[in-house]
Amino acid sequence: MVTSSSNSRLIVITGPSGVGKGALVKELLKRHKEIWLSISSTTRLPREGEIEGKDYFFIAKEQFHDLVKNGGFLEWAEFAGNLYGTPRKQVQQKLSSGSLVLLEIELEGARQVRKSFPQAFQVFLAPPSFVELERRIRGRASDSEDAIQRRLKRAKEELKAQDEFDSVIINDDLDEALRDFEKEIGFPID
Ligand code: ADP
Ligand code: 5GP
Repeated sequence: MVTSSSNSRLIVITGPSGVGKGALVKELLKRHKEIWLSISSTTRLPREGEIEGKDYFFIAKEQFHDLVKNGGFLEWAEFAGNLYGTPRKQVQQKLSSGSLVLLEIELEGARQVRKSFPQAFQVFLAPPSFVELERRIRGRASDSEDAIQRRLKRAKEELKAQDEFDSVIINDDLDEALRDFEKEIGFPID
């Protein structure tokens, strides 16, 4: 059986916007079909190419607030002016059936999960430098200047919190970061 270093079936990956969480998770899922990635709900508008139910469940603010009220989220947070949350039911079902569950969420959400699931294994993905982080956010060319500025400001706060995590992985070379991540969560390295 595949287990993480902490023997947990719940893995959290956090890191500043643009660091490459999405890119790393995509490669990880290609290589390990046994990992189930939780699809979050968000009030953010879809970026070009994003698909409903695959990247996010794109919902209205009212619906999001109703879900919060009814306990529908395992955790939720506001990030750069939008709301994001992890649907509770699906994650609980997957964990009960023994799946290895991965959450890709921001700092406040990771802190909430640390309280509700202290056994979860939490990884922080860090950029090689702040300059490179900004280059990646801008290179993605999918956010407005205002959104980029908010994300960069938030990134400074998030980077300060990396010591809270079970593991910090620097995403300089993506392939190396992927291998480091696999090692940390206990996958055999080929
Ligand atoms: P996040 O999900 O953390 O916001 P993304 O996965 O969208 O970040 O990555 C942001 C940009 O950086 C994308 O264009 C991605 O292709 C690029 N990127 C990711 N990892 C690396 C890397 N190791 N080196 C160079 N560019 C990278
Ligand atoms: P983006 O708008 O770039 O897709 O995501 C912005 C930030 O929100 C990223 O750091 C991403 O990890 C985080 N995020 C995505 N889904 C969730 C979620 O369900 N909960 C929390 N707390 N953060 C999320």
